Amino acid sequence: MQNYYVTEQHFSQDQTQALCMSTKRILLVEDEHSIREMVSFALGQEGYVIDEAENGSTAELQIADNLPDLILLDWMLPDTTGLELLRRWKRKDALKETPIIMLTARVEERDKIDGLDSGADDYITKPFSVKELTARIRAVLRRGAGSVDSEVIVGPIKLDLDAHRAYVNEAPINLGPTEFRLLEFFMTHMDRVYSRNQLLDYVWGRNMYVEERTVDVHIVRLRKLLKPLNCDQMIQTVRGYGYRFSEKT
Ligand code: CA
Repeated sequence: MQNYYVTEQHFSQDQTQALCMSTKRILLVEDEHSIREMVSFALGQEGYVIDEAENGSTAELQIADNLPDLILLDWMLPDTTGLELLRRWKRKDALKETPIIMLTARVEERDKIDGLDSGADDYITKPFSVKELTARIRAVLRRGAGSVDSEVIVGPIKLDLDAHRAYVNEAPINLGPTEFRLLEFFMTHMDRVYSRNQLLDYVWGRNMYVEERTVDVHIVRLRKLLKPLNCDQMIQTVRGYGYRFSEKT
């Protein structure tokens, strides 16, 4: 495992702003290496966490590992078609709400109708610009987020995700942006152990190269902030593995 030493001070304001949004995970299923590289890089810059798959079977493995918030799905793949995968995934409980944007070189109206009929949320025709793609992604995610509550509440802790404010027993607490994201991740992923590496992926994003002990530093800060409020014990160290957030002790 390579570690790159980058401190947060090196982030541009745009990157910091992107990081402050809740990190969304996008699965990119595309067999053309150059497109994968371009899209992956551009979306990484936007603060998304990207998983890549070059064919259908790798995509299935990626999904089993980490459920994506959105899927970019190429039409023609070496081992299957995007349409086939789209139909299969939209029948799965875990994925039927996950927005899917089809990427395709085909321009025939017929294919577009097939894709949309099968549950694709949007459609983008190659060649596309990164700007166009990110705009579509934002629109699709926003549409999906409409029904999602912008508040997360666990026990006495409440996060207002729109205002980026945290409260314990209705009293505001001052969290730094990383502590806020970390707490948001924990509160939305309760009772499961995450390794430092997984937390780096989810909270910092895969394109941010930070050493593992950075996680510990921020955990310590978060615990310190929560301690006077008796909530610090919700962040539990799981020896030899990582951290868990739980109301149970
Ligand atoms: Ca292809």
